[in-house]
Amino acid sequence: MKIVFDLDEVVFDWINDFLQYVDKYWDQLELEDERVDPAIRKATSADADSWEFFSKWGLNRRLFEKTYNKYCDDRQFASCPPTSPDIAADIGWLSECGVEIVYCTSRPLKTILDTRASLDSNGIHWDKIYHCGAYLSKMNSVLRLTKEKPNLEYIDGISQKKDVFLIEKPDIVLDDKLEYILEAYEAGVPESIVVAMKYNEEWREKNSVRGLGRKSAKTGFSFTNSNKWRSVFYEILKVKNKMTKAKV
Ligand SMILES: [Mg+2]
Repeated sequence: MKIVFDLDEVVFDWINDFLQYVDKYWDQLELEDERVDPAIRKATSADADSWEFFSKWGLNRRLFEKTYNKYCDDRQFASCPPTSPDIAADIGWLSECGVEIVYCTSRPLKTILDTRASLDSNGIHWDKIYHCGAYLSKMNSVLRLTKEKPNLEYIDGISQKKDVFLIEKPDIVLDDKLEYILEAYEAGVPESIVVAMKYNEEWREKNSVRGLGRKSAKTGFSFTNSNKWRSVFYEILKVKNKMTKAKV
């Protein structure tokens, strides 16, 4: 069995880390001069009610890209904390059960070694890491790190998570972004787990039993109860168990 994990808001607590970075470097980033609402300095991921959560405080796309680029250059992804201290043990257990652990993220290409550093320093098992970083990197390429072949590889001509799903053919994909969940479905991934966030709540409600946003009404999709790792891991075990039983 193979699982493709998204990183941010699934394994790593990126939104909070980014918001803390904005607060810490507020003066250097000169965001006040750009009329960004200082309320962003006290915000948390609980305030992220849309995919472009930052625009709520007047951090427009141009300013976001500038700030995000600096966050990447300052190598913040190397120290971005996991969403839970239990992740290392839980993913380690999945690996011992024979699950191949693959991460696929839209973080910029240039941050892939920082991703590896943070997985390693937190003791989180990985077999492969993909960075699909057309964003900021402006290159239609994917970078791959494989533990068995420790070379960093360029995979030219592909730039989307969908392409990685087609190459890897995972059994399960986890993501908090619907676009990627739907790409997984189109790529023929049998099971996709939507990590519940405010910005995918409406879609979950539309596609759930009795519109409650908890139990998926669509075959091949399931939702976590919350964005807490406990809930994410529980859903993985449930789906894994269902697939194992179906194979017998
Ligand atoms: Mg994510």
